[in-house]
Amino acid sequence: MKDWNAAPILSARNLTRRYGGHIGCRDVSFDLWPGEVLGIVGESGSGKSTLLNMLSGRMEPTSGTIAYRDAAGRGRNIHTLPEGEKRRLLRSELGFVHQRPSDGLRMQVSAGANIGERLMAEGVRHYGTLRGRALQWLERVEIDAGRIDDRPALYSGGMQQRLQIARNLVT
Ligand code: ADP
Ligand code: MG
Repeated sequence: MKDWNAAPILSARNLTRRYGGHIGCRDVSFDLWPGEVLGIVGESGSGKSTLLNMLSGRMEPTSGTIAYRDAAGRGRNIHTLPEGEKRRLLRSELGFVHQRPSDGLRMQVSAGANIGERLMAEGVRHYGTLRGRALQWLERVEIDAGRIDDRPALYSGGMQQRLQIARNLVT
């Protein structure tokens, strides 16, 4: 694509998810453009998690489509990608901060390792680089560098959320 900014990154069309007889979410459509931030707000039970589960490829829509344009400009359908490609996207271009931190972190390995793990999956091997990047991201999410070797199980809820953010954004 000539101008990367000239098309949406993510397009959802008429996404609907049913759980047996009842509706998880219905008829959701949007375009997300480069540089845009989209907030999805609604009361408990209105379908926010259902929508995010579909967008992240964890849950198949009952109907509707999701089109994602990757960093190379290729159109991708996260629900039909081969498993390996989908995992690659989920540890590089896409990131999810889970409401329950234990769904998004490995609670029994250090905070530094939680961040380093995603980098290692991207091929970074040098220990000093891994540690340096982890420290940099802890600082950016305002977690004291002295806590790098602590397990997230010992963090507060807010720190766990920020560690998830660091782990996602590092790649
Ligand atoms: P939110 O995240 O906005 O609180 P959810 O997406 O979790 O809402 O839930 C939307 C609706 O779908 C609710 O009525 C909820 O009970 C239902 N729901 C969510 N997950 C499931 C499931 N796994 N099985 C059956 N119903 C579900
Ligand atoms: Mg929810």
